Amino acid sequence: MNSFHDKRGVLHAEDVPLPAIAEVLGTPTYVYSQATLERHFRVLSDAFRSADTLLCYSVKACSNLAILSLFAQAGSGFDIVSGGELARVKQAGGDPKRVVFSGVGKTDDELRQALKAGILMFNVESGEELHRLDAVARSLRKRAPFSIRVNPDVDPKTHKYIATGLKTSKFGVPFEDAMALYEQSRRLPGLLARGVDCHIGSQLTEASPVREAVEKVAGFYVALKGQGLPVTHLDVGGGLGITYTKEQPPSVTEYAKAVLEPLRGLEVRLVLEPGRVLVGNAAVLLTRALYRKESSGKRFLVVDAGMNDLLRPALYEAHHDIRPVRPRRGKTTVQDIVGPVCESTDVLGASRALPPIEQGDLLAIMSAGAYGMSMASTYNSRPRPAEVLVAADGWRVVRQRERFEDLWRGETT
Ligand SMILES: *Cc1c(COP(=O)(O)O)cnc(C)c1O
Repeated sequence: MNSFHDKRGVLHAEDVPLPAIAEVLGTPTYVYSQATLERHFRVLSDAFRSADTLLCYSVKACSNLAILSLFAQAGSGFDIVSGGELARVKQAGGDPKRVVFSGVGKTDDELRQALKAGILMFNVESGEELHRLDAVARSLRKRAPFSIRVNPDVDPKTHKYIATGLKTSKFGVPFEDAMALYEQSRRLPGLLARGVDCHIGSQLTEASPVREAVEKVAGFYVALKGQGLPVTHLDVGGGLGITYTKEQPPSVTEYAKAVLEPLRGLEVRLVLEPGRVLVGNAAVLLTRALYRKESSGKRFLVVDAGMNDLLRPALYEAHHDIRPVRPRRGKTTVQDIVGPVCESTDVLGASRALPPIEQGDLLAIMSAGAYGMSMASTYNSRPRPAEVLVAADGWRVVRQRERFEDLWRGETT
């Protein structure tokens, strides 16, 4: 479901023709659709309406302030993984009382910042972290609300680089160890057990691993209550996949069933940490064709966006559809669409059949909203792209293209 479509032979974001944006701002540029972002948030909220649910948008998927602000206004909480993300949430007007803090490597400073901000809970990933949290909270004369991120050991059936809930992953704690940690927490005055947490992976395209994980975690939650621990929250993480090309992830309704059915009859506040499903299909990366070349019978199209702008293809072998913004008539040819970065993995699309492309033509790299700009770097001293938000009343720049001076900010000769 998205708002990028062809109108009279030109790709539009909502009612805005993409060439209009490229003419003013140049390329590469990320273009987001506000209608898509809002619709995704609404559809997901509606699917969970029958339960007491808090959606905590996973900031790392796309952390632009305008997008955080949009979700904050829609009532979202936030799932953060660093002090920087907490600062962004506050800057965007998000409510710290609706923030959950995930991640395996929180520093003392980050724990302190989050305690001072009064976040909803820390999703703790190890025994040592739990003890640090206790110590930092005591030094501030506070009690830190926490959940242990348990590792339900289910196979999420996703790419191995984004599976996080297997026994062998660095994330989470096995159930047996988690129970011992909750027991210990009773004797640690800086801690307050608030819930249980899990997150099994990303770009999930099947509902069954979700159901299996929720069943296991719900069983554990009941066991904790049975032991008299004051838990009230069950955080089932994020991970729902989207369609990049031919994937058929569960619908939001099917996903909600997989989460809610195992919780039937349980008194609990449900927390979700959706990232990709909210933003993935809400943006394209606009780029321009620079050169065509051929080498040993292989054709390449060199464009002005590279792996520093959109890392997913190079990092996870991810597929993004690539569409000419104004498709020309003519025979299609198969080619690799590559960026200018000096790395062989800088291939944005391998073996793609495209209609004729001329120098200067615009292309849209589709489904670029999640883990796109948030993973962009300045490798090869390439300034990061501009970001644009399209809405019903037009479009606006929500992040300016970096300038050369931004590249060396903080450096000295
Ligand atoms: C990245 C992450 C998410 C969001 O994952 P999506 O696949 O984008 O929904 C949620 N929770 C945690 C702990 C994460 O690390």
